[in-house]
Parts: sequence; C-alpha cells; structure tokens
Amino acid sequence: MRYADIIIDNKSRHTDSLYTYKTEDTAVKAGDRVRIPFGMYNKERSGYVYRISSEEESADNSNCPPEKMKTILGVDDSLPLTEEIMTTAGWMKQRYGITYWDCVRCFIPAGGPAREGKEKEPYQGLTGHYEKPEALTEEQQAAVDRIGSAIDAGRQENFLLHGVTSSGKTEVYMEAIDRCLALGKTAIMLVPEIALTTQMIDRFAGRFGKENLAVMHSKLTRRERYDEWQRIRRGQARIVVGARMGVFSPLENIGIIILDEEHEATYKADMTPKYETVDVALKRLKYYDGVLLLGSATPSVVSYQRCKEGIYHLIELKERFNQTPLPDVEIVDMREELKAGNMTIFSRALFRSMKETLEAGQQIILFQNRRGYSSFISCRECGTAMKCPKCGISLTYHKGWDRAVCHYCGRKFPVPKTCPECGSRYIRFFGIGTEQVEEAAKKFFPEAAVDRLDLDAVKTRKDLDRILKKFAGGETKILIGTQLVAKGLDFRNVGLVGVIAADVTLNIPDYRSTERTFQLVTQVAGRAGRGDRQGRVIVQTYEPDNYALQAAKHHDYEGFFQQEIRLRQFMDYPPFTDLIMVNFTSAEEATALGAAERCRVYMEHAIGTENAGQVLAPKVAVNFKGEDFRYYILIKCPRGSRNQYIYYLDNFSQILLREKIDCNMNLDVNPYSTL
Ligand code: ADP
Ligand code: ZN
Ligand code: ZN
Repeated sequence: MRYADIIIDNKSRHTDSLYTYKTEDTAVKAGDRVRIPFGMYNKERSGYVYRISSEEESADNSNCPPEKMKTILGVDDSLPLTEEIMTTAGWMKQRYGITYWDCVRCFIPAGGPAREGKEKEPYQGLTGHYEKPEALTEEQQAAVDRIGSAIDAGRQENFLLHGVTSSGKTEVYMEAIDRCLALGKTAIMLVPEIALTTQMIDRFAGRFGKENLAVMHSKLTRRERYDEWQRIRRGQARIVVGARMGVFSPLENIGIIILDEEHEATYKADMTPKYETVDVALKRLKYYDGVLLLGSATPSVVSYQRCKEGIYHLIELKERFNQTPLPDVEIVDMREELKAGNMTIFSRALFRSMKETLEAGQQIILFQNRRGYSSFISCRECGTAMKCPKCGISLTYHKGWDRAVCHYCGRKFPVPKTCPECGSRYIRFFGIGTEQVEEAAKKFFPEAAVDRLDLDAVKTRKDLDRILKKFAGGETKILIGTQLVAKGLDFRNVGLVGVIAADVTLNIPDYRSTERTFQLVTQVAGRAGRGDRQGRVIVQTYEPDNYALQAAKHHDYEGFFQQEIRLRQFMDYPPFTDLIMVNFTSAEEATALGAAERCRVYMEHAIGTENAGQVLAPKVAVNFKGEDFRYYILIKCPRGSRNQYIYYLDNFSQILLREKIDCNMNLDVNPYSTL
C-alpha cells in the first residue's frame, strides 16, 4: 500500500492542507492529477499528488486511521504536473503565504482542458528573422564561455550579464540556450512585456525554428494557452519565450532560465500570488541544476548587491558590438529656462537639437512618463486638487476625451467648471502628459509627422505593431511616448532622445524612485544612436544635481550603485530588509481597519520587542477596483526573518478565518507601490 498527500483543486482556504489517500497503484507519482472522493458525501473531486510515501507513518496529514483512509479513484492524465513543480509549489506557499492551490494553479492553463477544436498556434504570421553575426565580440565570447562552462558541467550557477544597451546580450542568450539544447535540456526566455515577446519570438524562430518554440503570456486565448501548454508538456517545444508567467512553464530538465531586462518591475506579479519571477526561477533551477541568467544595461540594486555578495557572478559587456560610442547626454536645468522667459515645454537646447536632428534626416523620441494632457487639475484660489471620489487619486486631464480620468480605476468625469470646494472659477491644469507633448511637437514642427505611443494610443497589439512599423519605416519623425518607448526597441535612425521631465519619476513616493529614474533615463537614452552615428540625449529637469541623473549622464552605473546602496542601508530598506505589506479588504470600512489593527498588535507580540522588525500602523489604501475598503500595515523585517514573519501572518489569517471575519487578507513582499 502507498500513501499520497494530495492538494485539492479548490480555491477555499478551508481546504488548504494536504489530504492523505491510499492507493494500490504503484505508478502513481508526485505531480499526477488524480480523482478522489472528498468530504462527507464522497463527492468526486480532482487534486494533485504532492508527495508519495510507502509507509503509513510518513504520511503528513494522517490523523486519520488507515482503515478509514479513502482510496484514490484513478489518475486523470489531462494535465499532469511533475515532482519538481510540486516541490516548487510547496515552497511558494511558504514564501508568499498563500494556499497550496494558488501555487499549483500557476502551473496549469486557466479553466482546464479547452473545448474540442483545431489546434491553433499563436503568431502564425511570423516567419522568423535572424542573421547570425559573423563572429561574436571578444566580450560576448568570454561571456558565453563562462556561462557555457556551468551549463556543460551541470552546475547550478547564477549570472548577471551587465551589458550596455546594444552590446549584443541577446546573442549571448541564444548561444547559452544552444548549449542547453545540445545537452537535451530545455530553456525559458523571459521578457518584461508581452509586447516584447513578438520581437524575441521572431528572432528565436529564425534561429531555433518555430516548431521548437512555445509562447506563454497572459494575452493568449484560453485555447492557445492550453495548446501551448500541451506542446511544452509533451516535450515538443523545448524553448519557451514568455512574459513573467512563462517561469511556470511545465518544462522538465530545465537547463537555463533567462530574464532579459531583469530590473523591470513587471517581473513582480501584481496579483496573488505576488511572486518575484527570479525567486521562482531560482527554486526551479536548483532542482534541475540549471543556470540562471539575468541581463540588463541597468541592473536592479538588489541584483547588483547579490553580485557583491557572491550569490550571482557578474559578467560585463562594456562595448557596443559596432563600437558606436554611447550617446552624449546633456542635462538641462529647467529653472534657467523659466528665468530666460522660455515658458514652453521644450528647453532651448532641446528645441535646437530637434531642429538639427530633423534637418539631418534623423528621427526623434520624446519621453514623458505620464499619459494624458495634464497630471493635475486644481483650483488656483484654494489649492484643492480634483481627485477620484472612489480612489482618492489625482485626476488626469485627457484633452482627446475632454474628461478628467482616474488612472487607477479608469473612471472618467466631466471637468468641473467651478471648484467643488470654494466655488471659484479658476480651475488650472498642471503637469505635462504625453498629449501635451504631442501638441507642442506638432505646433513647433508642423512639417514633421508626429506619433504617440502610450496606453491610450495602444489598445491592442495591432495598434502597437502599427505605431512601431510606421516609426521603423521612417514615416514617423517624432515619436512621443511613456515608458513603452524606453524598452528594447531597436531602431537605427534615432538621432535624438529628449526626456521632457525627469522629475516625474524622481518624485514618486517609493524607495525605488531614484533607482527607477536612473534606469529609465539610461534605457531611453539607449534608444539613441544605435546605428553607426553617436546619438544625443537631452534630459530636462528641475533637479539637475540629482545623483541618479548625473550618473546617467556619465554612464556610470557603479557610481550610482555606490550612492544608492549606502542610502538603502542607512534607511533600512531592501535589500537590507524585506518590506511586507499586509492588505485587508472588506466591504465594511470598520472591518478592514479592525483586522489591520488587530494584525499589528498580533505581530508585535509574535515578533517580540528584541527583534529589529518594525510594524507600522494601519494606513488606508487606494483600492484598485475602487470598490471595497482596503487598509494595510507595513512590516520592515530583518533579512533572514521573512519566512518566520510570513508564518506568523499565516497564523493570523487562520484566526480571521476561524472567526468568520468577512475580510480578505493578502501579502505583498517588497511591493512596487503602496498606493
Ligand atoms: P542588447 O544588448 O541591447 O540586447 P542586442 O542583442 O539586441 O543588444 O543586439 C543589438 C544588435 O546588434 C542586434 O541587431 C544584433 O543582431 C547585433 N549584434 C549583436 N552581436 C553582434 C555581433 N557580434 N556582430 C554583429 N552584430 C551583432
Ligand atoms: Zn477652490
Ligand atoms: Zn478611481
């Protein structure tokens, strides 16, 4: 007789434990999907075998005598998982304080088996574009050798490939994947945006053949997702290209997981489970002795610190493959512009450069990390800013719709004619959005074709492809955009990049805002001069001495890092601590606040005063859906205590459950926003 601990296919926290069943079937193994009788009436349910044991004692959850123990009905081979996946799921449960089922669910296509029908393959139109370079550069070759030696030896090692923009990192990725395939292993290639998967797949299809690739991201249809999943699981596709959820691909024998642009915030999930992609990747790779490869021109402070601590090996690519020098970055002090009587959004330097660039037949990218027309609408008499009544967030004026829009819940409101507070008619607009930049560009350069790339302009993938195609083809002369333009775009004829207001990201109330500013300015600057002429970058700001901007100007990553890490240490911020945000959501405000307050007291007791951890009092939070009430507490937890703290929090959530308190509790470790 064998005993199986089973995770039930059910969302409820009430069934969140392992249930032990008997089986005579010697073929049943961890990861199998099985049918079982469940509950008082032995209703047939599905579940996954978490682990198998042959001796009664070792069964984990069996406070049930063997003669009463129920028997597995049979194996359901529609969506089989693996032992490694079950191990990873168990680890995720602990790390993120979520249910077993929330973890397992990540690894299977949503909604179960799709309806019958013809198998469909996403990206049918792609033929694959790839030209193998004649030779790798010396730096590229050295990187490939170093990473390759770990792959060939089957050593679990982690690498951070710090390569300036256009240094040919993708070529290194492909060589490393080649090595894995040659050894019969598989590979996962992740990019930070769904939009970037298309470019990557196109290149990979040219190099590895479309039939060996599968795609994983959240915008696939259910059918596509199911079919891709099956192709991966059957071993037909040995390379998965995807956005962050690709890390859950049901591959076996994973040789390498690559995260391109590893610093991007999108690698952190914003819905439960709020996992860090790199953590899940590492866990999976440890099982298979695979290699982790992170790539970036602007590594995250956390990853770079891990290099200093020997957790990752640092590999640098300092030269662009074609030796084009990095762009020349000029910082313009906008206070001087005001003094000189220039009230427009273009500084004199930017205006002049735009003119020269257009005359030279080159293209321009203007970056402004805020969509809409104006980011604030406020009363000049009493200073009241118009806010979304549901979310409490400042409304953004969108000229195209002539509406005040909430960027959190998406609600649109008519622009008030008078101030709701004092009745004054002096309503003013502040802050520059992309619509306003577009308007100015059209006004000052009427002969140049202007286009805009932001979430308002891009409703579907087709919109994105159309805008990018027009720019790539040279039809568009000036492209204005939010961070969508900062990432990964490889255009050869961009002579000038203008950052309209670097202060937008500097002033976000988040401990990462300086890091984020450095990254954005460096990344967007990297769009200039990718051909054979050196590009120009002009950064407009009211804080010209800020160290992030100065470091970006001098292409000095190390200098930026040294300042930033000192500050993080001084302030007790990650990576020196973990910030745990505990959210409480309820239809009743008092319930949410009450639960949050109770949790604070509970945690203070659990942790004890001698511990350095700090539990901050509950704060009201903006709710994403703009419906229920949300309160959160923030806990700064010392390095190494994270699991312990999450264990306490899990205990607390059991209390809420037992007392049937109608409040949803969830955790976010090192959240990207506390709004
Ligand atoms: P990044 O480091 O910015 O990711 P990519 O890998 O996208 O850079 O490379 C930028 C361009 O350089 C690509 O068009 C690629 O084909 C080309 N490239 C990369 N390595 C070489 C090389 N060794 N010789 C010639 N061209 C190369
Ligand atoms: Zn007013
Ligand atoms: Zn709102």
